[in-house]
Amino acid sequence: MWILTTSGFVSAVEWQEKGSPKDGWIYLRARQREHLTSLTSRLESPRPKVQELSGADYRYRTWLTRDQFKDLLMLLADDVDYPNFKSAVLKKQGATKYEGALHRVWSVLASMQPTSPYARFGKTKLKRGKGKCEDCGVSGPASQFENYLGRTLCKNVGDCVRRMSPKLPV
Ligand SMILES: [Zn+2]
Repeated sequence: MWILTTSGFVSAVEWQEKGSPKDGWIYLRARQREHLTSLTSRLESPRPKVQELSGADYRYRTWLTRDQFKDLLMLLADDVDYPNFKSAVLKKQGATKYEGALHRVWSVLASMQPTSPYARFGKTKLKRGKGKCEDCGVSGPASQFENYLGRTLCKNVGDCVRRMSPKLPV
């Protein structure tokens, strides 16, 4: 599980080592030490120590019991007191490398969506001439299209989506 919080990013996986006392524990890894310590510092003592392993995939790592991990997730749930996650990170940390990375993560995941995020909220009309939709490719009088962030798109969202996905039931 990847966990992106206003304090940082950690990856949580299960430690699987038969016979080990830590078998079945949560192995928490991070790219930056403070991403891990900001989370573990919130747990009751004894707090798990952060190990550093240069040259490994994740350089900073620690182990939590299942119960500690559950406690942590409860704390994270209570942390959500903002209407916009990326803005909350910016407010808390400033323009850090992490905050910059979140924008790229956002873009990469947004590309999975069948239509561009916000594509339908721009209301600037193209009043003259002809237009062509950059999603479905249909051309026509400019009045049929709207412009959002430099992209020309059909005003009729339903027709546009059907043109892009002809197999969808109408
Ligand atoms: Zn279209």
